[in-house]
Amino acid sequence: VSDKVQAIRGMDDILPGKVHAWQEFSSRITSVMDRYGYHEIRTPMLEALALFKRSIGDVTDIVEKEMYAFQDMNGDYLALRPEGTASTVRACIEHGLLHNQTQKLWYLGSMFRHEKPQKGRLRQFHQLGIEAFGFANSHIELEVILLCQKIFQAYNLEQHLMLEINTLGDAAERLSYKKALVDYLTPHINNFTAEIAQRLHKNPLRLLDSKNIDLQELLIKAPLLLDSLSKASRLRFDTLCQALNDYNISYTINHKLVRGLDYYSHTVFEFTTDMLGAQATICAGGRYDSLIAHLGGDDNYAFGAALGIERLLLLQESLGNTLEAENPDIYCIASGDAAWSTMLAITENLRSKSAWRIILSYADTGFKSQFKKADKSGAKIALILGDDELKSQSIGVKNLRSLSEQKNILQAELYDYILSAVNGT
Ligand code: ATP
Ligand code: MG
Repeated sequence: VSDKVQAIRGMDDILPGKVHAWQEFSSRITSVMDRYGYHEIRTPMLEALALFKRSIGDVTDIVEKEMYAFQDMNGDYLALRPEGTASTVRACIEHGLLHNQTQKLWYLGSMFRHEKPQKGRLRQFHQLGIEAFGFANSHIELEVILLCQKIFQAYNLEQHLMLEINTLGDAAERLSYKKALVDYLTPHINNFTAEIAQRLHKNPLRLLDSKNIDLQELLIKAPLLLDSLSKASRLRFDTLCQALNDYNISYTINHKLVRGLDYYSHTVFEFTTDMLGAQATICAGGRYDSLIAHLGGDDNYAFGAALGIERLLLLQESLGNTLEAENPDIYCIASGDAAWSTMLAITENLRSKSAWRIILSYADTGFKSQFKKADKSGAKIALILGDDELKSQSIGVKNLRSLSEQKNILQAELYDYILSAVNGT
């Protein structure tokens, strides 16, 4: 006996019992995005490794330790995408989608990160991404946040999610803040691990959202990023806050929210929940104007968000809001080969005339157990075909949701009969 080959840890199968929730998500999203005028873009799952190194940044969790990167047969360095923004920007530049035009785009797909698998944290997971290019001010930020809310509302999740926002200012302001932060932390750095000490030099902002308790304690009195911002940067942020107030969107300002990726400036935000433990962030995003030029495009504006679908579905499961697939309409039971081929022809005919969901079952286990299956399927009607019915060109029809007796009718009259039966119930 050979060993079983198993799935890779953290790369989940989505089995038939769960797949409906995914289909439903994708159809709800497609309709919401359509109503907001956002267009879908699909990019490859494999890209040049350099794309992610250059965009996400060398000193980030993703690039330092979470990338599925490898050399292919030609010796090219490739990576499975860990997120979708870099690929979207690359595609837009490559196809001239940003020439004298704005773009409002979305995508839905698998992302790959080599993390420690746990509830809500997978190695292959799925994100819905929203990216808007060419919009300089907070109007687009409000629109994207409203769009995220619309999605949460579609799942009745609004009251379980908190919006946190912050501003990172522009690159020069961040640089001066980094200096202030490093000056503040350096005298204490010997009390911390080598990893934290290294971060202090390479990417000090990331220390702000560190989970290290002692560091958090120390950071309470650290200088605030907000204090390093220019009047103009503060005004932008105030404008967004005011717009959120006007729309009655509640939020908290989290001065420690910096996001993991290098490319953000000005507004950043997260929607978090207290119902999924450490995997608290459902959706995160921000402004990343500089990325387009950084990847070889012209100077532009960009704002986007990414939503973790597993976490959204987990949250809604934890609230008991499960989505069931719709039941079949008709369950067909055929006994014997001759009956089966006639039943196949009947089902094909019914499907050509209607949108009914029809299950065709071969009754080799006897009628009784077939009736049980028919009942369990949730179908409204069972059709029964055996030798007697074949001879008389009739078919048995049983309404599974009422106590009425099984009826025998002519096969030629079946469609009309079902129509009236369906309309009658
Ligand atoms: P975290 O702090 O939880 O690691 P992140 O900052 O790495 O999140 P982003 O890169 O901003 O996450 O991705 C956006 C969203 O994608 C997250 O808010 C989350 O919902 C989801 N997500 C990220 N990584 C994973 C993962 N490994 N498994 C499942 N969902 C994920
Ligand atoms: Mg992460």
